[in-house]
Amino acid sequence: MYQLNDKIKNLVPYEPISGTYEVRLDANECPVNFPEDIKAQLRQKLEEVEFNRYPDPLAQSAVNSFAEYYGVKPELVTAGNGSDELIFLIESAFLKKGDKMLVASPDFSMYNFYSSICEVECETFIKDENLDLDVDALIRKINDDKIGIVIFSNPCNPTGRGISKEDARRLVTSVDALVILDEAYMDFWDESLLDEVDQHSNLILFRTASKLVGAAALRLGFAVANPVISTAIKAVKSPYNVNSISQAFGEVIFRQKEYLQNRKKTIVKNREMLYNGLVKIFAGRQNMTVYSSVANFVFVKTDQSKQIWEFLKDKSIVVRLMGDYLRVTAGTEAEVEKVLSALNEYFEVNV
Ligand SMILES: *Cc1c(COP(=O)(O)O)cnc(C)c1O
Repeated sequence: MYQLNDKIKNLVPYEPISGTYEVRLDANECPVNFPEDIKAQLRQKLEEVEFNRYPDPLAQSAVNSFAEYYGVKPELVTAGNGSDELIFLIESAFLKKGDKMLVASPDFSMYNFYSSICEVECETFIKDENLDLDVDALIRKINDDKIGIVIFSNPCNPTGRGISKEDARRLVTSVDALVILDEAYMDFWDESLLDEVDQHSNLILFRTASKLVGAAALRLGFAVANPVISTAIKAVKSPYNVNSISQAFGEVIFRQKEYLQNRKKTIVKNREMLYNGLVKIFAGRQNMTVYSSVANFVFVKTDQSKQIWEFLKDKSIVVRLMGDYLRVTAGTEAEVEKVLSALNEYFEVNV
């Protein structure tokens, strides 16, 4: 009789919160759809799609548009079906059985999850009490434990904290390990290593169209690395990993420079409003901490996380519950006002 192996037999499919809610602040998405003029460009682009043909394996039109937007050479860029695909691909291909990977904690849970599927040994580096990465301790750990790949998000999901460009560079140049910096939220900050990626033999950066760019529906992620690494990623990926519609739409979306820059300003402003509001509500209460953020969400520690989460959900507002923490996405100004006023209400009745 066939039996599922031990590593997958107890897994359940990923299931985001189901149901319809008025305010969705649980997935760090962009809070608004594209405006009408960009939608019109997308509709027009759709006319050009050759549905009977396989997509371009290198997704060149989307890659060129991405590269132009960020000012990197297109040769250094590989497109993926979301960065999720690229994480899995690189963890499975760039390590051999027996090699070690290092993740940080708390951080994006998919890094660890995929390593278990790849049967890669994965160690965990614990962040300090402010949820920051001690980069020197991290470097020592990587070198002492002979780590093959270290991967973490910068800025970090879920903490919203980031390490500076100088610290990231010091890490990359102080280890032999392959360093993967997932910059999914770097569009909201300005400490990227993008412009020097080809000067490093051991660096991969991930970017995504799912957050600031506001196109999570397309599943479009990018790996940026030197030509040797980029060629290897392109060689191991499945040939038609990015569908033709996402390629065509990606080309259009990364041309919207002004729109994306304006949206960045708005979301950063809303995040500050969210952060300041949360500090006002939580500060001075026992067992509660609000972490300042450089991303598009704010992380809060509270021993009432579950009760608060339920209270908000009853008001049709969803945020992400993570143990003793809540992660709240910076939505529109109106959404930020709603979540703050609901939290004020919560604390009127619960001290
Ligand atoms: C949202 C997110 C991504 C983006 O994943 P996609 O597959 O491109 O949608 C990647 N890394 C982190 C840490 C994220 O939070």
